[in-house]
Amino acid sequence: MKAHDGMFIDGAWRPAAGSGTIEVTNPADGTLLATVDAGGPEDVDAAVRAARAALPGWSATPPAERAARLEALQQVLIARREEIAETVTAELGSPLTLSRKVHAAAPIAVCGSYAQLAAEYPFEERVGNSRVLREPVGVVGAITPWNYPLHQIVAKAAPALAAGCTMVLKPAEDTPLVAQLFAEAVHEAGVPAGVFNLVTGLGQEAGQALAEHDGIDLLSFTGSTAVGRQVGAAAARGVKRVALELGGKSANVVLPGADLAKAVRVGVANVMSNSGQTCSAWTRMLVDAERYDEAVRLAADAVAAYVTGDPLDEATRVGPVVNAKQYERVTGYIRRGRQEGARIVAGGAERPEGRERGHYVRPTVFADVTPEMTLAQEEIFGPVLSLISYQDTEDALRIANGTVYGLAGAVWSDDEEEAVAFARRMETGQVDINGGRFNPLAPFGGYKQSGVGRELGRHGLEEYLQTKSLQF
Ligand code: NAD
Repeated sequence: MKAHDGMFIDGAWRPAAGSGTIEVTNPADGTLLATVDAGGPEDVDAAVRAARAALPGWSATPPAERAARLEALQQVLIARREEIAETVTAELGSPLTLSRKVHAAAPIAVCGSYAQLAAEYPFEERVGNSRVLREPVGVVGAITPWNYPLHQIVAKAAPALAAGCTMVLKPAEDTPLVAQLFAEAVHEAGVPAGVFNLVTGLGQEAGQALAEHDGIDLLSFTGSTAVGRQVGAAAARGVKRVALELGGKSANVVLPGADLAKAVRVGVANVMSNSGQTCSAWTRMLVDAERYDEAVRLAADAVAAYVTGDPLDEATRVGPVVNAKQYERVTGYIRRGRQEGARIVAGGAERPEGRERGHYVRPTVFADVTPEMTLAQEEIFGPVLSLISYQDTEDALRIANGTVYGLAGAVWSDDEEEAVAFARRMETGQVDINGGRFNPLAPFGGYKQSGVGRELGRHGLEEYLQTKSLQF
C-alpha cells in the first residue's frame, strides 16, 4: 500500500527528525503493507509550532468559511470512501462490508454534521448585561486508537476545526495509513497550512511528547484507561484541558418482559461487530434467572452465524483482531474465564479451523459468568460475550453498575417507560433502548473510569470552545 515518507506539518510532507520506522502489517495474514516514519519529540515540537502559528488566522476565519472547508472535506471523504474502506480493512482487518458501512461512512456523517454546526452554532450569546463569546481553546493535541481509526480522528478533527482550533494528531501505530489518507484529504479540501498536522509514531515517544508539550491547550485522548490516566496526569501538570474517551464494560440488560430472541440476536451482533474491538460493546448480557437457560441457547445459536473469514470476502462477518498482542490478550481472557469456572457454550481459545495464519479469534460465548469474575469486570476487546443471570431488577441494576466503567449499555423491555426508568439509574454515558440506533449527533462519552468529556454533535463542539464574557 502507498505510504508517505515523513510527517505532515505546516501543509507539506516533511522528513522526520529521526530514522525510526513503524512496520504496518495486515492482521489477516501478517504481510507487510507499508513502512511509515516514527516521529519523536522533535517532530512533535515542529508540528505544535506550526499549529500555534496557524492559530491566529484560523481562529479569526469566519465560521461560515470554516463550515465551507468542512463541507469540502466531507466531499473528499465521499469521493475516496472506497479507498478509505480498503485501507481500514488492510491495516485493521475489519470485514470490507463493515469498513464501507461504518469505518468509511461514519466519518462522512460526522464531518457533515460539523460543517452544519460550524455554520449554525451561536458562537456569541447575551447573558444579562454581558456578551458571552465562545472562542476556540487553541492548539489541540489529539491521540487516537486503532479500533475505529478514521472515525476517532474525525470525531476530534471535525469539531476542533469547526471551533477554530488548530491541531496535531498522533494516530495509533497499527493504523497510520488511514491517518495519512486523512491528512491528504484535509489538504485537498483547502484547509490552510498548519491548521492540521500529523505526526505518526509510537505512543511512548511521539504520544508522550505531545501529551507533555507546553504548546498545546487541550489534550484529547481516545484509548485505554491505563494510558488515559498517564496522559491525563501529564496534561494536568501543565494545567491543560483534557478530554479522555476510555474503555468500557457495558451491560445489555434484558428485563423480564422483553423480546428475548431479538435482544439476544442484536446483543450478539453488537459484540461480534469489528471482532469485538468496540469500546462501547455490550459485552455483559444480563438475563433474569427464569429465562437465562433459554438466553444461553439463543446466544450459542446466534453466534454460529459469525464465522471468521478473510476480510476481503464480502460474506465475512468477523475478521481477525488487530495484532498479535491483542490476539494473546483476548485468548488469554478466554482461558482465564474457563479457569475461573465460566462455561464456554460457543468458541474457545483455540484457533478457528482452517486459519493457521492471521490473528483470528473464535467468536466466543460464556455462560455461568458471575459479576465478580474477570470476564465480567475487565475490558477484553475481542469477540467474547458473557451471560450473567440476575434475580430481580434491583439485582440487575447492581450488576450493571458494578464495574469501574460507564461508557454505554442497553435495556430491553416490553414497556418503554420501564426501560427508560432503568436507564436513568444506569451509571453510563449512553443507553440504547430496545435496540435504538447509533446517533452521530448525540453526545458520546463515559461516566466513571470510561472518561472525561463528550464527543460528537453540539456537545462535542463545545469541548473545543472556551467562554469570554464582555460586560456592558
Ligand atoms: P492505547 O491506550 O494503548 O493507545 C491509544 C493511543 O495512545 C495510541 O495512539 C497510542 O500510540 C497512544 N499511546 C500509548 N501509550 C502512550 C503514552 N504513554 N503516552 C501517550 N500516548 C500513548 O489503546 P489502544 O490499544 O490503541 O485502543 C484500545 C483502547 O481504546 C480500548 O481500551 C478501548 O476501549 C479504548 N477506546 C475508547 C473509546 C471511547 O470513545 N471511549 C473509543 C475507542 C477505543
